[in-house]
Formats: sequence, C-alpha cells, structure tokens
Amino acid sequence: MLTTHNVADAARHSDGILRPRRFQVFTDRQFDQIDQLKRLDSEQRFAMRVVASVMPFRVNQYVLDELIDWDRVPDDPLFQLTFPQRGMLSESDFDRMADLHRRDADKAEIQALANEIRERLNPHPAGQLDLNTPMEEGRPLEGLQHKYRETVLFFPTQGQTCHAYCSFCFRWAQFVGDKALKIASNEVGMLHRYLRQHRQVTDLLVTGGDPMVMKARHLSSYLTPLLSADLEHVQSVRIGTKSLTFWPHRFVTDEDADEMLGLFERLIAGGKHVAIMAHYNHPRELSTRVAREAIRRLRDVGVEIRSQGPLLRHINDDSRAWSDLWSTQVKLGIIPYYMFVERDTGAQHYFAVPLGRAWDIYRQAMQRVSGLGRTARGPSMSAGPGKVEIQGVAEIRGEKVFVLRFIQARDADWVQRPFFAKYDPEATWLDQLKPAFGEDRFFYEDEYLAMCKGQVRPIQ
Ligand SMILES: *Cc1c(COP(=O)(O)O)cnc(C)c1O
Repeated sequence: MLTTHNVADAARHSDGILRPRRFQVFTDRQFDQIDQLKRLDSEQRFAMRVVASVMPFRVNQYVLDELIDWDRVPDDPLFQLTFPQRGMLSESDFDRMADLHRRDADKAEIQALANEIRERLNPHPAGQLDLNTPMEEGRPLEGLQHKYRETVLFFPTQGQTCHAYCSFCFRWAQFVGDKALKIASNEVGMLHRYLRQHRQVTDLLVTGGDPMVMKARHLSSYLTPLLSADLEHVQSVRIGTKSLTFWPHRFVTDEDADEMLGLFERLIAGGKHVAIMAHYNHPRELSTRVAREAIRRLRDVGVEIRSQGPLLRHINDDSRAWSDLWSTQVKLGIIPYYMFVERDTGAQHYFAVPLGRAWDIYRQAMQRVSGLGRTARGPSMSAGPGKVEIQGVAEIRGEKVFVLRFIQARDADWVQRPFFAKYDPEATWLDQLKPAFGEDRFFYEDEYLAMCKGQVRPIQ
C-alpha cells in the first residue's frame, strides 16, 4: 500500500517537486545565526535575549522562511507565535533580567533569577503533575494522566520537545531544562498494563512535547500493541501535535514519513480510529504547499484531523482569523474541534483575552462559517475541575451573567449542567469568576475541594 504514499507521489499531486528539507533548528544560543533577525534593531534583539533566558525558545528554518512574514515583524502573528516578546515578562522582571545581561552576569546568576521568575508564573496549571497522575502501589505512574474517565493522556519520553516552540505554550515549564518540572515516561509496559487494567478507557491521547518528533519505530512500540485483543477497548488513538504547522515534512519528505503513515494505516486497518489533534492558531499555517500535502497524505490513509488551539492576543484575537481558519480547515478536510482560552500560566498576561471578548470573537467567527465549521466548541478553559465552556453572556432578572457549562469534568455528573457567573469584563480565567445570583459557590466546588484533598478519587 505504501507505494501510493511515497515522495514521488507527493510530487505528482502538486505543481512541482516537494524536495526533502533538512531539519535545521535554532534556540536562543543561535539568535546570531538567524539571518532574518538582522532586520530588527539591537534593542529588540536584546529584549528577545532577555525574555529567552526565562521562557523557552526554539524555531526552525521552515518557520523562518515560509511562515513568518518578516515585512510585518514585530506585529506579524507568526512571529508573535514563535519569538519571545518583551511584554511576556512584567516590567520589573524584565528590568532585573536585562540588568544581569547588561553587566554580563554569569550563567548561575541568570539561572537563579530565571528560576525565581518561573516559579511565580504558575508553572503547573490545573495541578497537572499530581491530581491527574494515577498511582500504582503507592507510586505515581509518571507520564500518564487520567483526568476524564474515557481518556488517558500519555507523554512518551522520546516526544519531549517540539519542532519549534509556541511562545504562549502552557507546557512551557517542560522545556526550560528543569528536570523536576518535566512530565514524561519511558515505560511502554507501564502504559499497556495500565490500559489493560482500565477497561473504561476508550481513548488514548498521546501528547508531549510533540509525539511527532519521535521516530516512527518508537511510536510504533507504543501504539502497535494496542491492536492486541486485550486492548480492544482502546478504540481511538489521538495524537496531539503542532507538526502540521511547524514541520509538515514529517509526513511528506522525512526519511520515515512513509513508515509513520504505514503505522497509522495498520492501526486503522486493525479497527482503531486514528486522529491527529492538530494545533492551529492562524490561517497562514495552512497556506504552504507542504502543509497541504501533509494533510492530504494523512487523510489518504484514513487519519482524521481535528483542530484545536487557544485564542491569543497579538496572534489571533480577531474573528476573521478564526472564520478563515475554520473555513479553510473544512475545505481541507479538517474538523474544527476546540477553541481554548489561554491558560493561567507563563506569559498569560501578554496573550490573555478577557472571557467576554473571547465569546464575542467566537460568536462572530461562528456566524461567518457554514455548519461544517461550527463543530468547534469553546471558548473553553481547561481548568482544575474540567473543561469549562463559555456558552454566552445573558441578562437574567436584571443581572448580567456568563452562562457556563462543563464540556469535560472530573466528575462526569457535572458535564452539560448550565451554571452562571457574574459578568466581569476583565476576567480572563475561571478562578476570577464569582457565582451569580448571590450564591456563595459554584455547584461543583465542595466536591472538587474534597477531591483536591484526596477524599474522593473519581477515576482510579
Ligand atoms: C481535553 C482533555 C482530554 C480530552 O477531552 P475530550 O473532550 O474528549 O477532547 C483528556 N484529558 C485532559 C486532561 C484534557 O484536558
């Protein structure tokens, strides 16, 4: 079968030949080697260095050459999406770090300040490291998260990086080189044992980092065993990835591109649903030939592509960007899935859009796409208790309120129950919302608090 998915075929289906491209990556240690940065003045380059000593930075030549519009820098959305920006640190943190750089302070001093700043940026939003990690004989199963009954998240060790980093990434703490902050696992056996023992799990969601940085044979060692009879209950394999944006060559011209597609094809032939959960933020990410070719090849082997991504100031806080994104996706055979609210971590203050405005943007974008584009749910906050969607703003008996619901919840019984918060034009996250109608807490709060104290573990 694979002969239909080789590189020569890619060329036949396009106007010209898509040649293999060497994956060349740049981190903050290689700022000087990025030719395009010479357009910026020295102050801008300095600011970038300062911020990059706190927040992770990684970009590749494809992103530099084909995605960023350098004539529009620094406002260009794809530049904002990948490069550190001064506003990502508070004035005072920026000044302190800038000072260290100006007087050429030693590495240890810069590291110490960087760590202090990171600690204040809520590196582990929604208790990711503890409450969601299942236990086995008193020990945490590292690299697994099981928050919602049907779905297990798995973070393979080999997938701990990405082809480039997003400046707003909520998992930024994993990428700053502090081992203690990482979530990872190298235990193939542990994953399969856990899945065998939990027959209510229908979905395995492989995430990272980006699992698509892995070699096909590594990914195969995790996924091929799912075809055995004792793992039949795992019906869907989802792979969370930004590679369709940052390195579509992964599915087209990379050495093991065909092997990767072959793996997906075998899983599908064995009865699994295979979905790429593609992270997209801007219509330009879908514009290049190689990006479209990658989508076509995945769809050809039967992979479903669903799209998700956060709403971000400086990048896509405009309803046109979203309606273009969703309608282009529908045209290419991608199913819009979630619009997220930027999480309460890292540079959230720089990227955050107030919830009321987020809902306006969502609504206006929805109005401009056909029903096929209206499958995107949101704006949704992935918070401790679950995924909370802003369904709208309403006035009920003279009180302006947010209408909310759980799309996913730590207790399945909370799902789809409408609840109400006082309208607050400034609020950017769930913890800033207060119950409407004079109530003193939201309906789920007592139970959630008990779960956090370890009195109730609804899943395991
Ligand atoms: C979003 C999410 C899932 C998957 O939820 P779906 O609604 O099925 O997409 C699973 N686990 C966690 C922790 C999540 O945040």
